[in-house]
Parts: sequence; structure tokens; C-alpha cells
Amino acid sequence: MGKATPPVKKNQMIELSFEDITHEGAGVGKINGYPLFVPYGLPGEKAQVKVIKVKKNFGFGKLIEVTDRSTDRVDPPCDVFYKCGGCQLQHMSYAMQLEMKQNQVKSALKKIGHIEEIPVHPTIGMDDPWRYRNKVQMPVGTKNGKLVTGFYRKRSHDIIEDMDHCIITDEVNDRMVDAVREIASRLGISAYDEKNHRGLLRHIMVRSGKETNETMIVLITRKEDIPQLHKLVDELTETYPHIKSIVQNINPEKTNVILGKKTKVLWGAEYIYDEIGGIRFAISAKSFYQVNPVQTKKLYDQALKYASITGSETVIDAYCGIGTISLFLAQKAKKVYGVEVVPEAVSDAKENAKLNHMDNAEFFVGQAEKVMNWWNAQGLRPDVIVVDPPRKGCDEELLQAMIDMKPKRIVYVSCNPSTLARDLRILEDGGFETKEVQPVDMFPQTTHIESVAELVLKL
Ligand code: SAH
Repeated sequence: MGKATPPVKKNQMIELSFEDITHEGAGVGKINGYPLFVPYGLPGEKAQVKVIKVKKNFGFGKLIEVTDRSTDRVDPPCDVFYKCGGCQLQHMSYAMQLEMKQNQVKSALKKIGHIEEIPVHPTIGMDDPWRYRNKVQMPVGTKNGKLVTGFYRKRSHDIIEDMDHCIITDEVNDRMVDAVREIASRLGISAYDEKNHRGLLRHIMVRSGKETNETMIVLITRKEDIPQLHKLVDELTETYPHIKSIVQNINPEKTNVILGKKTKVLWGAEYIYDEIGGIRFAISAKSFYQVNPVQTKKLYDQALKYASITGSETVIDAYCGIGTISLFLAQKAKKVYGVEVVPEAVSDAKENAKLNHMDNAEFFVGQAEKVMNWWNAQGLRPDVIVVDPPRKGCDEELLQAMIDMKPKRIVYVSCNPSTLARDLRILEDGGFETKEVQPVDMFPQTTHIESVAELVLKL
């Protein structure tokens, strides 16, 4: 028996009702059971849709006109929302965004992890879900002989030239991008031209400390020697006293990767500082630092709560970055061991421990899975293990080491519900029980989902 042919044809206009939404934020509607994915369609809506791609088991459509509008549809406040690849959810009320994220965590746990009976709490959102990002990296281009900055159009490397601000970026950072672009343009510094691998200024990166108001500017250039740079630095530092550091990063490669290997301080300090929950962090140009400090505090408070620390515990923080979670835990725990693969991040973590006069946190460079196995072999028996892996989740070897070490509790911080669900299944089969999961909205207006899970050892 052959499969039924798809009930729609390419370029056909259809009326579609949306029942669901994908993790990429596309509306899902069905024609005789055949699903069509339509960007910007919202559940509960009816719309005129043009079919643009027909595959065997599913198709894609373009939203032409919403005929029955959801009360959760809002006008995107950003002028370039439909062109830009940065945000995906500005057409949706914030309440719906939070609900969608909670549902997607639930659904991943159920479908991938076969975990159903546990509470997945309502997503912890922001009071004001705009201007939250403490860091911006803007590509630089040229138009009519002048420098322009803007994010890339969706699925392309064309700069959106009429973009003069980004409303999820901190206002100070937005203004600094403008200032650097204007001065650099006046001084005749050329923009990098990706196609021909010529020109100098590739990206402008700006990072500011929310609590300290200190700003770092990173100029990412193709070549090191640029005579006008010192003039650019002079003008910037004379005009803006909140700038504490200007760094040049040299990236001579033909690559999509923004930062190159070499960094050089052009002016001021190598670090800026920021504070989360009373702990001070030194942040250098290349280190990973959470982009939404307001929500980071809420996420770490939740992790700390799930860790249930009383003062006598030994804790491991795997994938520790610059030691942010480790130091949060070290305030309460007897001893914290952090492990992280990027050597610069580990030296930042050690500096951060000193900066906060914490002598009960120790940091190690290496792959978490290898170091964890080594700790296990050494007989280290932590009371609590916290993991915060990248999107691909934990390495199996690390999950196995945790199962062997039998900590009383595991706290799993995740930026990807699918790999979280996969790993929780392995931990459950290895003797742990997932108690509850708390999504925290670290990235409003985008489809990214962060959550934290509490696990306990089954007796
Ligand atoms: N917990 C930190 C960082 C989380 S991001 C914070 O909240 O700020 C994930 C981190 O895992 C990154 O710093 C990345 O460099 C690190 N990482 C990726 N693969 C790793 C591995 N195999 N072993 C150890 N660390 C790894």
C-alpha cells in the first residue's frame, strides 16, 4: 500500500486553523491530518496561507492574512522584526511566550524522557521583557561610502542597514555601537567585506555590567595594525566616562566565527566587573557570561534551592564557565569543585573566587566527563552535583560517573529541553528521581528555553 499523496500543492492558497506551535515558533495546522508549518501563525488562529513547500509527510506555508486573530497576537514593537533573525516571538503576547515555553519543556520530558507525573512549573518571566541583554555583537558593513551596523537578515549574511537600535539590547550598548560606528566612519576605518575578505572592522561588541555600569568595547578587526585606532579610542574615552576597557580582537580568518584568537587591550582594564546576587565577577572579552543578569539571579536562586545546601556539603559544579554558579553555591556549601573545558574561563573563575574572598571553591580545567571519572576513581563523593552543559547536553560518560558517585541530589540546568529530557531518562534509569522542573525565561522574545531540574537519589 502506497502512502497517501499530500492533500495540498505548491503555491496553492488554503485556509488553515492553527492548533499548535513548534519550538521554533511556527504555527502548526492540519489538512486531513497532513501538518503544515507556518511561521508567525498562532494557536487558535485561522489564516489564509500560501503553500510554499510540500514534502511527503509535512509541508511549509507562508502567512498571507490572519482572518481570525488570537487575542495573544500583538504588533511587534521592533521595526525590523520580520526581517531580522534575532527574535522570533515579538508577535506573541509575553504571557503566551511564557506558557509556550512551559508547555515545550513538559512535552519534551514526556515525549523524549517519558517523564510525565512531575510538576513543570509556570515559566519565571521578566517584569519588563525588553532591553535585557548586557552584550551585543553587531556586524559592520558599508553603504554609500559610510559604515553601517545591523544584524543579519534571517538565514543570510546581509546586514539590515536601517537598523539603528535593538530593543532587547541594553540602551547603553546600543548607543555605544552607534558611537563607535560614527567615529570609525569619520576616521575612514573600512568595514570588513566578507565576500572579498578585505577591509578592517568586522564586528563591534559591547558589554556592560548591569550593576556597575562599566562598559567594555571590543573591536574585532581583520588586521592588527590600524593607525586610526588610537584616535578612535581617544574620542570614545574622552566622551564616555563609563567605558572602562577597550579591547581589540584580531580575526584574520575567512570564517563565521566572530572572535579570533588574539586579543589586545587598547585602553583601560582587561576586565569589567558585574555583580549578581552580591557576588562580583570579572568579565574579560572572551569569557562566557550570562547575557540576562536579572533572570540569571532567578535561575541561580532556583538552582541553589534545589541543591538544598545546609553548610556541610561537598558540591561539584560541572561546565562551570567563569564560576558563576560555583560561587553562588560556595556561599553556603562547605566545598565546591568546578570543572570547565576553556582554560581562560577557569582562570577567570579562580580570580573571581579571590575577588569574593572565597577559599572553599577550587577550579579545574578539562572535559567534565574525564575529570568527573577521575574524581570518582579518587573516591570523591559529593553530596550534590550541579551540571549546566551546552545545548548538546551531558556526555554519557559524565552521566555514568554521576550515577556511580551517587550524590544525594543532582541539579540540572539546561538550555535545551530535548537533551535535558534525554539525560533525565538516563539518570532516572540509573537510580535518580526527577522531582520537579522550573523553566526560567532568560531570553524573552526568542524561542530559547532555559530550565532547571531537581533530582534526588532513590533509596
Ligand atoms: N555555568 C556557567 C556556564 C554555562 S555554559 C554559567 O552559568 O555561566 C556551558 C559551559 O560548558 C561553557 O563555559 C563551555 O565552555 C563549557 N563546556 C562545554 N563542553 C564542555 C566539556 N566537555 N567539559 C567541560 N566544560 C565544557
